[in-house]
Amino acid sequence: MFTDKCLLMKAIYYDGKTSQPYDAQVGILGNSLTISYENAQVVWTILQIDYSSFTGKGKTMLKYGEFPHQYLEFPIDSPLFSALENHLPKRREGFWAFANELAGAGVQGVLITIAIFVSIAGGVYFLLLPKIAEYAASQIPMEAEVELGKQFYDSFVGGMEIDKERTKELQAFAKKIDFQTGYPLKFTVVKDKQVNAFALPGGNIVVFDAILAKMKTPEELAALLSHEVTHVKERHSLKGLARGLAGSMVVSVLIGDMNAIGNILVSQASNIYELGFTRDMEKEADLEGLEIMYHNNLDPKGMINLMERLHEEEKKYGVDKMPAYLNSHPMTKERIDYISKESKDHSGKKNAALEEIWKKIKK
Ligand SMILES: [Zn+2]
Repeated sequence: MFTDKCLLMKAIYYDGKTSQPYDAQVGILGNSLTISYENAQVVWTILQIDYSSFTGKGKTMLKYGEFPHQYLEFPIDSPLFSALENHLPKRREGFWAFANELAGAGVQGVLITIAIFVSIAGGVYFLLLPKIAEYAASQIPMEAEVELGKQFYDSFVGGMEIDKERTKELQAFAKKIDFQTGYPLKFTVVKDKQVNAFALPGGNIVVFDAILAKMKTPEELAALLSHEVTHVKERHSLKGLARGLAGSMVVSVLIGDMNAIGNILVSQASNIYELGFTRDMEKEADLEGLEIMYHNNLDPKGMINLMERLHEEEKKYGVDKMPAYLNSHPMTKERIDYISKESKDHSGKKNAALEEIWKKIKK
């Protein structure tokens, strides 16, 4: 329906096939928008216009039709804007409008929107989740942890050969040291070529005979045990386990599979010793281990010597092929540095009881 009231208004038209902007004359005729440009004319049905105001520079952009979309751009103070205002779908508000506008900006906008979501989710995941997991781990009663630890111990030493004689001697050795803990500590020596030792939750400490063979003084062994007992006292393996579990649990909750949580717990339980401690946990074990040495009047030089033995191993294996014990720990050089600095004002006395048991262990 043509009427002489039809007002022609200026706008920029994009035909969707090229990025070429055309100067256009736009008229409103009933339910249609007539766009004339160059020597062509297109007609839009107003109700099918996708209102996508996104330019943010006092301009409005209307989108129309199937892909490739056509666009019409004009300033918001244009008479076209007020003429169309009541006929167009309302703008969406808030975050979704923002996301929608970004998405309206094409592939780049979609990527930005995804990036924003991923950063928010990632921030929650990486910053909050480990903290919540560690807090949860710290709330578990000691009895439950000890019970859990027994199961870990059984699966851990299950396939290994226990050195019964040395285990007895190591237990006797450890009894002479006050580790200042309520955990029921239990020490086991297993026969294995790896230069390694592990702290399991609840008080079980497993020492491989190869690391005993590397040591030359009882103070080095006391240092190793002090380090491992600190892992127990600070619940490092439980915290590490909780951090590892939390991620998989969140995924299970999100996909609504509660059975999966039980399965994850069981599967994680069997490979707890593959979960590395963080460098912070290792440093904590070194420094609190030193405190145990001071408390027992043992020469902290033992810990430095232990590190130097490990450093020799490191050089032998090369950085890429370090044994597991060294792998998860801060670089040995760095450890020697902070341990030396921390302990420079401390010394200790020879401990006759430890010396005596030490001789038996080294036999
Ligand atoms: Zn450690």
